[in-house]
Order: sequence, then structure tokens, then C-alpha cells
Amino acid sequence: MRSQDIRTKFLEFFQSKSHTIVPSAPMVIKDDPTLMFTNAGMNQFKEYFLGTGTPASPRVTDTQKCLRVSGKHNDLEEVGKDTYHHTMFEMLGNWSFGDYFKKEAIQWAWELLTEVYGIDKEILYVSVFEGSEEEEIPVDGEALALWKQIVPEDRIIFGNKNDNFWEMGDQGPCGPSSEIHVDLRSEEEKARIPGRDLVNKDHPLVVEIWNLVFIQFNRKADGSLEKLPQQHVDTGMGFERLSMVLQGVKSNYDTDVFTPLITEIQKITNSTYGKNEETDIAIRVIADHVRAVAFAIADGQLPGSTGAGYVIRRILRRAIRYGFTFLDQKEAFVYKLVDTLSKQMGEAFPELRSQKELCKNVIREEENSFLRTLDQGLVLLDQIMKESQDRNVSGKKAFELYDTYGFPIDLTALILGEKGYTLDQKGFEEELQKQKDRSRNASKVTSGDWEILSDEESAGFVGYDSLEAEVKIIRYRKVESKKEGQLYQLVFNKTPFYPEGGGQVGDRGILEDRDGEVVYITDTRKENNLIIHLAKELPKDPAATFKAVVNPVRRARTAANHSATHLLHQALRKVLGPHVEQKGSMVHSDYLRFDFSHFSKVTPEELREIEKFVNSRISEKLPLEDNREMSYREALEAGAIALFGEKYGDKVRAVKFGESMELCGGTHVGNTSDIWHFKIISEAAVASGIRRIEAITNEAAKEYFSEQTETFSEIRSVLKNAKDPVKAVISLQEENAELRKQVEQLLKDKAKNLKGDLKNEIRQIEGVNFLAKKVDLDSGGIKDLSFQLAEEFDKLFLLFASDQNGKALLSCYISKDLVKEKDLHAGKVVKELGKYIQGGGGGQPFYATAGGKNTAGINEALQKAEDFVK
Ligand code: ATP
Ligand code: MG
Repeated sequence: MRSQDIRTKFLEFFQSKSHTIVPSAPMVIKDDPTLMFTNAGMNQFKEYFLGTGTPASPRVTDTQKCLRVSGKHNDLEEVGKDTYHHTMFEMLGNWSFGDYFKKEAIQWAWELLTEVYGIDKEILYVSVFEGSEEEEIPVDGEALALWKQIVPEDRIIFGNKNDNFWEMGDQGPCGPSSEIHVDLRSEEEKARIPGRDLVNKDHPLVVEIWNLVFIQFNRKADGSLEKLPQQHVDTGMGFERLSMVLQGVKSNYDTDVFTPLITEIQKITNSTYGKNEETDIAIRVIADHVRAVAFAIADGQLPGSTGAGYVIRRILRRAIRYGFTFLDQKEAFVYKLVDTLSKQMGEAFPELRSQKELCKNVIREEENSFLRTLDQGLVLLDQIMKESQDRNVSGKKAFELYDTYGFPIDLTALILGEKGYTLDQKGFEEELQKQKDRSRNASKVTSGDWEILSDEESAGFVGYDSLEAEVKIIRYRKVESKKEGQLYQLVFNKTPFYPEGGGQVGDRGILEDRDGEVVYITDTRKENNLIIHLAKELPKDPAATFKAVVNPVRRARTAANHSATHLLHQALRKVLGPHVEQKGSMVHSDYLRFDFSHFSKVTPEELREIEKFVNSRISEKLPLEDNREMSYREALEAGAIALFGEKYGDKVRAVKFGESMELCGGTHVGNTSDIWHFKIISEAAVASGIRRIEAITNEAAKEYFSEQTETFSEIRSVLKNAKDPVKAVISLQEENAELRKQVEQLLKDKAKNLKGDLKNEIRQIEGVNFLAKKVDLDSGGIKDLSFQLAEEFDKLFLLFASDQNGKALLSCYISKDLVKEKDLHAGKVVKELGKYIQGGGGGQPFYATAGGKNTAGINEALQKAEDFVK
């Protein structure tokens, strides 16, 4: 069965059981402070389990793009080494939100595997939660009874909390699970060791394929469990592992999900898969990682130096490194695999097709820059080896190489091993741990349990039309983080405050009670579908009714910037071409920032044209057409622009100004004339093929122009109110260049004269031509002078001192013949004499300089110079 059909069969099976098929959520999560990447199918539904949102349908099914490279689920180090863990994989799942429970979940899973897919029952094992004394939960008897009706008892295994109790995070919904495992070993192997002894023992052919989670508890902040009012089903089956079973192979990499990529890698790198373990691991790593990276880029997440971008960069670098070390790839090659990938997966995930060129460009550029880093690292490592006395490289040095230069530790270890050096691996681990602790402490957040004041469901955001509302707090909790200190999170029954999202900053404002007492709301965010208001303190009576008022000035400026962003997007497509796609956006009250795909610098003429286009739309006074209840399809048919990597519901909001129409949840001006004026401040590259424009509008534009005007008039007045200031500046520059030339000539003449005088002052001390003297030259002049004197004298020892605007400078010249004969070293001389000027320096044996604070010590330094030749 082709993997494509395997995927379709799964979805159709659950559709036949009244499930709604929904699309995969983006793999890269935006606007969720608790999670960077989707790591399980349930992530996009967690608000339904938490009871903070209501699903459109109580039964859904999908295939979800997952990435397990950070946080609670991190499989990165396994990937490639084993044959069944990936960084990016698809998780097939079916869900019940307060609808069916264990009985249906278990029956259907069995029916699908054995009847629809026709898997031999003899190779399947199932597991049941054994219970936990510590948590006071008994064995999952309900699941056990259900399984007993289907499978013989010797195929049922009891699992502990580690394997059979699923938790999303430290807090939140959780529950016991039943897993289904397959045993793909040969008959002889099975006769030797029974499969049930190998379940959950990391055997590559006895693996878990499906996890059925029965969500019935909520883990509270103090670690205790409480029963949820409703019970849910959350299942996840690894698509690649299922394909392995159904295609009769013994590795995920031998399924048609991976074989096209592996064939291509062998071709590009001129290697063979299946002959040598090291090569095989490298090929698997590359086949796996190119998927993760391409899917991330298609979701709008570029490799970068922080956060999610950094995680993606590290995955790509791991692939490059394996290619570099084990497949001898010294040039960029990973990007070449994108064509194969998009051909193969583009149907199920169209974003791969439409973003193909961008993926290739970005990956190629990253590869080239990392290969340069590797080159530099190799040179540095060479130096470190030379400097090491005992053929051992300290953990600290290795960590520096890793941390500052991005040079991978396994490569360091490999090279050191080859050259007969050892690495202090433990020291390295310690440094790494210290760094991890530092960043963990910096980002640690502890949150208390929610204090629920009312069961009422929040009506959410009501602030499109009004900046004020009468509200009640329905729940609140205390949170504490290093970054923000102690804060309260408040949730209202409805709110005029816009929560940070879609690039737009969250609103600020106040919460006022009947007595006029005010609590400041410092930011607004969205978490698990709840709109959370941050406040430094709690109102005196949280149960009271409040007037919630958004800061109107800040909101108005933000709205102007958001609407201008849409017009800018439209202008870019008009002026640069329809290939322009939004790659990131930041709408602040003071400015806006827009990242977009475009392959060359935007010229000044183009920038002017873009500004002009936007300002014309502003002059046209286009009213906002706000369609809040359109269906997604309707909106796209009407020409609205949707973004890749964004999650849209069935009902969307389309924001329209004239010809500009975008799907957007942000707040906007009522009429483009409210933007007043649009001004681009900068244009630059952020990555290969991605440009960034920063711009301002409204008050900020006004301030910008008045500042510019002020600066300009200051310049004019400095220029004595010249009629044409540009001309006046040019003539000043010319005059300056002419004067500089003259000064240089004068200095040269002076040095020549000085040289004549000094020649007469050179003394003979014990066969050495010696001179120590204070001169009035800069360091360049002193060096020239020294070398000129050296042409005329051999066995020369010079020490010049000078006062450079209050700083002392010593320069020592020693002829090469003297260096040898008397074992002298100019570097040591200045170091020694540097003490008198309270400074230090160094250099080569024949020429060195030192700088210091104490000009009063110059004379003493000059006197002591004689000691070196005596
Ligand atoms: P394992 O113990 O094998 O790592 P898991 O317990 O972490 O699996 P779950 O979190 O229960 O797995 O995820 C549900 C299913 O997703 C698993 O049964 C498996 O088929 C699949 N899966 C999990 N992690 C990966 C991965 N890194 N690569 C491919 N498939 C995976
Ligand atoms: Mg796992």
C-alpha cells in the first residue's frame, strides 16, 4: 500500500465513524508562549481539553505535522541512529471532545489496524496503565476489560507512569493511555525471546505505533490531580511507522516516504546506503532533517539565531555536519533535495510546492555560511592543538569553539581523536550544563492554579468597535518569571483589549472599579484560547464589576500601522511583482516592520514608488470594509490574501481597503486617511531572499519630518545660512581633503628634520648604537622614523616615547643582528618599561609598542632603557 493511500484510508475510516476531517495545524506555533513547535496531534485542540474553547465538532480526525526537537519531547539525538524516530513526522489521530470514550477508541483502533489495514493480529501487543500508588490511581480496569474482549491476555502488557500516563506538560489535562506495539522480528527471533519482553525496551523491530490517550484528569500547579468534568480521547499514530508495517519493511527509511530522498542523496553524494553503518546514519540524518527544515521554512520559520529559528538552524547544521564528516560533502548540497521532497509530499502539503524556491535559497545560503564557519573552526582547532602541552584539549576551550563559533563538539572530538589528542568531554558537558542552567533560570515561569470566579464562558474580544466595556473577572492566577517578576493574569467575561497576535502588539490600558480605583493592564496575550490581561496587582475586590478601558492613543497608532502594513503589502506586490509574500510582520504603536520574499535589494526608486503608492491610498480616503463572518473559501474567492503557516478557522475575517484584502484579526483604522502619512525608514536583507522594510505613520511620521526639518535648519545655520547647503558641504569636504594633504606633507618634512637631528644624538654603549628619547610624533611617524634610522645604522637600539593627547606611548626598535647577538626582545623591553607608564604592550622581537596612562613616567622609562644594553 502506497503511503499516500495509507494516509487517506486512515482519514476515511474515521470519517465513516462520524469524524470531521480537519487540516494539520502549522508545525511552527506562533502566539503561544508555552510551545514552539507542534509535538503532538492534540496541541491544536488543547483548549478543548482545558475547557477554554468549544470545538465545532465533537469528533475530528487529521494528520498533523509534528516536530520533536525541543522541550518535553526531544528525539533529536536518536534520529538517524535508530530507524524509527524522526524530527519531523506525521501523526495520524482521532479525537473525541467529551463524546465517545475508551470503548469506541479501542474498538475502532483494532478494527482499523486488523480489518482495514489487514495487519496480522499475531504481531500486535497492547498496553494498559498499571496504576500508581503515589498518585492514588488504580489500574485502568476499564481499558483492561475492553482489551480482554479483543486480544488474548498474554498480549496485554502493564505499563507504568512513564509509558502509560500521558501528560502534555507540567500542568494541564492528562490521563492513562493504551499503546499498540508491533513486533516485526523473524520467526526464529520470536521463538528465542517473546515479543512481550521487548515492548518499550527500545528494540528497533518492536516499536510503538499508536497511543490512545484517555484524558480524564487535570494536573494542578501543586502536582495533584483533579477529575475533569468531561472525558476525552486523544490518539496519535506515527504515519511513517505505520507505513513501515504495511509495506513489509524493517525501517521507516525503507518506506516510500523516504526512499526517493535516499536515492537522491546517494546520487548527489556518490555514496551507497546499506553497506556501512556510519554512512547509513549520515544518509538517514540528512533525509530526515531536510524534511524538518523545509517544512519549517514553508511554515514561515526561517533559520535564525534565537528561539524557533535557532532550533531550525541547529537541525540543518546537524545534517550539514553529517554530510561534511561522513559523506565528504564540502559544498552545499542539502538544498538540492528540496525538489524531490516537494514532488513527493507537495500534494498532501501544498505549501511545500509553493514555497519550494524560497526553501532552496534559504537552505543553500545557510549551508554556505555554516561551511565557512566549519573552515574557520578547523583553523582555530588546529591552533588549540598546537598550544596544548599534554595533547589534551580542555572542556572550556572546546566549549568556546562550540558556543562562540558554532563549531560542533562531535566534530571536535572526531578530529582530536584522529590526530591522537584527547578531549575533556566531562569538562565540556559541565560548561554546557552551566549555560543551560543560566538560560533555564532566565526563562523560568511558575504559575499558580486558576482561581475560578465564574463558570461563564468568555465572549472573547469585543474591541473592534469600542475601546471600553463593562467587564467581570471570570478567572485569575499568579505567575512569576525572572523576566517579568510577579504578575497576575486576569481573564474577563469579555474584553476590549486586543491580545498580541498576527504580529500586532497587545493592548494596554486600565481596569477601573466603581470607586475609581485603577489597576493598570500592562499587556494582553492569548494562551490556550484565553485572552489574558497582565497586571502588577490584583483589584481589591476581584469579584466586582469593572470598566475596562484601552489606551486610545496607543491603539490608534497601532491601528494606523496595521492598516499601513496591508497597504504596504499591496504596494510591494504591485511594484515588485506578485512573487512577494509576507514572511513576518510586526505592528507596534511606534513603527511597523514587514518581512517579505524578494530576491534583490529594493532600489531607492522602487522604495519611492512604494511610498507613493501607499500615500495615494491614504489620500483616496478608503473606508474600512470589515467582513467578520466570511467562510474561508468565500474570502479566498473574493481575492483575500491568506498567509502560509497560519491557522484559520471556518469563519474568517477579511479586512478590505479598496483593492487590498487580507485575512486578518488585527485592529484597523476606519478610513485610510487616519493613517495620515506613510514613510519608509529602512530596507535591508534579513536572510537569503527575504527583505525587511521598517516604516512609520501618523504621529511618528510627523515627528520624523519635524526632526528632519530641525536638523536641516541647524545644518544651514552652521553653514552660515548658505543658499545651497549641499554645495556648501561639498566645498567644505574638498577644502578638508586639500588641508589634509598639506598636513601630511608637513609632518613628513618634520620627521626628516628630526631624523637629521637624532642621528647626531645616537651614542655608542658597549658596541650598541643607542638612543632613548621623547619625540613629538604619532605612532605611525615613530615607526617610519625608526625604520629609516635602521637603514643607516646596524646594531641599533631605539626607544622612543611620546605623549599622545595625554596617553604615554613607548616604541622600541632593535636591529635583527642585536636580537640574535644579545638575546634581546623588543616586546619584552616595552613590557618591562611599560610599568613606568602604568600600561602594557608587546610585539615582535625587533619592534614593539606599549601604551599607558602615566605620561609622568616617560622620563624614567627612557632612563631605564640603557640597562638593556649594558
Ligand atoms: P517512543 O516511545 O517510540 O518515542 P512516544 O511514546 O514518544 O514513542 P507518543 O508521544 O505516544 O510516542 O506519540 C504517538 C505516536 O507517534 C507513537 O506511537 C509513534 O508512532 C509516533 N512517534 C512518536 N515519536 C516519534 C518520532 N520521533 N518519530 C516518528 N514517530 C513518532
Ligand atoms: Mg518518544
